Amino acid sequence: SNQLMAGKRGLIMGLANDKSIAWGIARTLSDAGAELAFSYQGDALKRRVDPLAAQLGSEIVLPCDVSDEASIDALFDGLKQHWDSLDFIVHAIGFSDKKELRGRYVDTSRANFAMSMDISVYSFTAVVQRAEKMMTNGGAALTMTYYGAERVMPHYNVMGVAKAALEASVRYMAEDLGKDGIRVNAISAGPIKTLAASGIGDFRYIMKWNEYNSPLRRNVTIDDVGNSALYLLSDLGAGTTGEVLHVDAGYHVVGMKAVDAPDI
Ligand code: NAD
Repeated sequence: SNQLMAGKRGLIMGLANDKSIAWGIARTLSDAGAELAFSYQGDALKRRVDPLAAQLGSEIVLPCDVSDEASIDALFDGLKQHWDSLDFIVHAIGFSDKKELRGRYVDTSRANFAMSMDISVYSFTAVVQRAEKMMTNGGAALTMTYYGAERVMPHYNVMGVAKAALEASVRYMAEDLGKDGIRVNAISAGPIKTLAASGIGDFRYIMKWNEYNSPLRRNVTIDDVGNSALYLLSDLGAGTTGEVLHVDAGYHVVGMKAVDAPDI
């Protein structure tokens, strides 16, 4: 394997299980020589995250609920007990009430709009704010987005609005932190069957549609996302910031149903 991440230390946020996009990214980065720390949302997930972290030789596994400022501060205080500097951070976190990931966007409630924006958008800014202070040799931050930010996708609703704001926050933070050698990017992944995705209505249909209509005629895997994350987080990506990189088998360039696409 390559050693593109040798000597680099990073925090992975958003690992829930071995289907998580965070897992694909963590595995690739670890293979490339990165030293990793993990955060998990709550006690229910600790049981799953501990053994996965151990598989990659990581002993730093800390709780963090990103809806709570004190919990984010505690995470970074905990991290500082182990490391005095940080090279990268991966934010693979999103949340919305699944009752609003079907039906009409226009019916979104104020409470779920605010919660979706808080957990899926502001949390990335909140963690980059803390990470910046530890990135004394420059660094890289990465978050996860989806094409529903750019175009209307079935059932994505308030998450599409949140991802649009997340992508804008990537651009603003890229400008804020670029002078200090800190890069901020996002990967726009095609649909992948994960815990979070199972909350989206008709997700199987969306997967089939992407498989039949993307230029590569397949869906992407968490390893595809991991490999692209390696580019953005390693020195290979040294010239790239503020970018939303599509890892979607090319789906975002397509203008209509493929002529050879079977009926679903
Ligand atoms: P996942 O369910 O494996 O991961 C989502 C993670 O968010 C979980 O680990 C969960 O614990 C965490 N999370 C939610 N609320 C939190 C909170 N308050 N505090 C801390 N952590 C919290 O699903 P995934 O698909 O791997 O999702 C990762 C990211 O990728 C999300 O931002 C998602 O929107 C994005 N994404 C997913 C797809 C897809 O099709 N799966 C496509 C594009 C983008």
